[in-house]
Amino acid sequence: MKSDLVKEISPFYVMDVLERAKQIEKEGKDVVHFEVGEPDFNTPENVCKSAVDSIYKGRTKYTSSLGIDELRKTISDDYNDKYGVNTDYNNVIITMGSSPALLLSILTTINPGDEIIITDPYYACYPQIINIARGVSKKIPIYEEDNYQINIKKLKSQISKRTKAIIINSPSNPTGTILEPEIMKKLSQLGVMVISDEIYHGLVYGTKARSFLEFSDNAIVINGFSKLYAMTGWRLGYLIVPGDMVRYIQKLQQNLFISASSFVQHAGIEAIKSTKSETANMVEQFNKRRIEMIGGLRSIGFNIESEPLGAFYLYVNSKKFGNDSYKLAFDILENCNVAVTPGIDFSERGEEYLRFSYATSMESIKEGIRRLDNYLN
Ligand code: PMP
Repeated sequence: MKSDLVKEISPFYVMDVLERAKQIEKEGKDVVHFEVGEPDFNTPENVCKSAVDSIYKGRTKYTSSLGIDELRKTISDDYNDKYGVNTDYNNVIITMGSSPALLLSILTTINPGDEIIITDPYYACYPQIINIARGVSKKIPIYEEDNYQINIKKLKSQISKRTKAIIINSPSNPTGTILEPEIMKKLSQLGVMVISDEIYHGLVYGTKARSFLEFSDNAIVINGFSKLYAMTGWRLGYLIVPGDMVRYIQKLQQNLFISASSFVQHAGIEAIKSTKSETANMVEQFNKRRIEMIGGLRSIGFNIESEPLGAFYLYVNSKKFGNDSYKLAFDILENCNVAVTPGIDFSERGEEYLRFSYATSMESIKEGIRRLDNYLN
């Protein structure tokens, strides 16, 4: 016997692609990876050293369930500096990545049957986490021709008595789009709690992403170290929440996770305080790759209407090459050993889309485009 819940949870289709790609590699062939959602860079060296030092200093015990104060203060200072907001460190809660932060915030916000609005295409895990919390996802379609901005009128018409939150993600996975400040302002006037997933903040090219806290305090910010600091495997993230939520989230954290890892939290302080040049360099490289990938995809016949300025993804219409995204992704993988993510991971309307990640080397991007051109054309 298995629970209804586990039967309802969808797989993350990109993992099927990745697993098959790994098999192909085992057969001795070289695969170009455009599917992965993590930086290919190593974590900055001083951050690694700081973690190792911390281990030798004995920082290997549980910490406070809210996280160590020094990291909480470093994060609130960072937000206050970057966005001109007034975050108190007491409202910062450290988690083992932003994924648990999402779970904790949703569990704290809804009762079974309550609704959370998400924009569609969405980060694949949002509807699953809402489902785990026994909530209902209400999906608001957003469109490439609108540069994936939210139509506030349409969103407003979907708000009901059971709507407890709206999740936004800017810059976005999978589209790379940054929400316009005017739209964030309008969202802040709807009287609904906004859960703002700011995990791709810092990974922006020639522009700035605004924090939702600049517009409203009726918000939960989700963020983490995985992307900007190339720390996916460290599992470190955080929440910034209204004061009256702290104790509730703390109780959940105590029961579910106890605390984030101690030495990893100490390394997080180093990451925020002392990696300016490393992160600037990574951002510069991502931007060059972004330009290369956009140019390359266009040159082989993909239509990219507007160029996304954030994260490291392109969500591209692939109708010209097939209308079954899972099949197309596997055809591409089998025939030219390029791994891409099927659009159905991000939307029920995603059959005509593929997501390309440019978190890989310039040489790989050039090689991948060459192979795609040979196969598709
Ligand atoms: N939110 C978004 C939009 C993401 O793309 C990811 C990672 N792919 C996460 C949250 C989770 O990141 P982590 O748990 O590594 O912090």
